[in-house]
Amino acid sequence: MKNYLKILALIVSVTTAFYACSGGDDSGSDDGDGGTTNQAPSSFTASVDLITETTAALNWTDATDPDGDTVTYTITLQGSEIAIGLTVLTLDLTGLTSSSSYSGTVVANDGNEGSSSASFSFSTEGTAPALHLAFAEFDTDNTDIILSGSNVIIETNGMANHTSPYWSNTTERCATPPMGGEICTNTDTTVNHPLFVEPTATSYQFMAPGNIDDFNGSYSLTVLAAPDLAANSSATGLGAIGIAISGANIYNDQEGPNMPLDNNTIGSFDYTAAHTGPQSYHYHLEPKAWSNDDDALIGIIADGFFIYGRKCNSTNDYPTDLDASGGHTSATQHSEGASEYHYHIQNELYLNQYYILFPGNYQGTPSNIQ
Ligand SMILES: [Zn+2]
Ligand SMILES: [Zn+2]
Repeated sequence: MKNYLKILALIVSVTTAFYACSGGDDSGSDDGDGGTTNQAPSSFTASVDLITETTAALNWTDATDPDGDTVTYTITLQGSEIAIGLTVLTLDLTGLTSSSSYSGTVVANDGNEGSSSASFSFSTEGTAPALHLAFAEFDTDNTDIILSGSNVIIETNGMANHTSPYWSNTTERCATPPMGGEICTNTDTTVNHPLFVEPTATSYQFMAPGNIDDFNGSYSLTVLAAPDLAANSSATGLGAIGIAISGANIYNDQEGPNMPLDNNTIGSFDYTAAHTGPQSYHYHLEPKAWSNDDDALIGIIADGFFIYGRKCNSTNDYPTDLDASGGHTSATQHSEGASEYHYHIQNELYLNQYYILFPGNYQGTPSNIQ
C-alpha cells in the first residue's frame, strides 16, 4: 500500500509538471536514503496576489520531499529564470508592465534530479488614465479641471479670458432677446471692466442683451478621460455644446429653435464671433481672439473630444479627411505622437465669410453641460 501511494504521488507530480522534468526516475542515482530510488518532491500549487500595475506577490505551497531531501525552488517568468535556489515560499515580482498578462512556473528541486512544478498566471492592473495634455491650455482663472477616476470634470464660470465689448462698461444700452423682454445694462456702472474694448465688428446698437459679467455662471461638464466614438452620431442642441479654453461656452450653428445663424445675429457678434445671452457669453464662429486660420486648441466638445482651429498640427495644413462633424484621427500638438480623434473648425465658408465652430453632430457620447 505504501508503495502504491508513492507511485501515485509520483504520477501526480509528473503530470502536473509544466514542462518535462526528471521526476523521480533518476536511473540509479542514489539519494543516500538507504539505496532506494529517489522520489521527486510532492506536487504543490502556486498563486499570485497583491497585484498592482507593476508588482505582484508570488506564493506557493510547500513541496515536501518523500525522501527528506532539501527542496529548493526555481522561478521562471515569461520563459526566463528569475530566481533559483529559493528556500522560502514567496517571491516579490517587480518591474512589471501595467495591463499585461504574465505566466510562469515554480519548480521544486530535491537536489537529486527529482522535481515537480506548479504553473501560475496573472494580469497586472491597468494604468489610471492621465489628464490629457490639452487641458493645460484651459484658462486657470476661469476653469477648474479635475481628473476623477476615468472621468474629467471641467468646471467654468463661463467668463472669457480675453477682451470684448461685452464686458461691463459705462455706455448704457438696452436690447431685446429673441424671446422678448428688454434687457438694459447697469446704469450705475462707473468704470469699464479691465478687459472691455470698444466694439469694432459690431456696434452698441446691434449688441446682444447683457454683459459678460452679468452672467455670473457656473457650468460643469463631465467627460471620459479617454472618450470613445459612438456607434451613431447625435445632434447637438441649443445652449452650451462645449467649453472653450478661454472659459466661455461653445454654441452650435443655431441662435434659437429653427433659427440658423444669419447676418442679423452675426451682426451682434464681437470681433471674436461671440455674443451674450440668453445664459452666457458664447462663441458660434472661429474665435479670432486666439485662433485665426491656425491649429490652435479651441476647447472641448460635450462628447469629450477636443476641437482645434482650421489647420491640423499633424500636417500644418487644412485636413482633407474630415468627417461630417469636422473630425478625424491624427496626431495633435497634445497627443505626444499618438493618433487620436479630434474635431476641427471646418474650412468651409458660411454666408461667404464665416467659419462655424461646430455645425455637425456629436461623434462621441455627449454629456450635459450643467
Ligand atoms: Zn448665440
Ligand atoms: Zn487634426
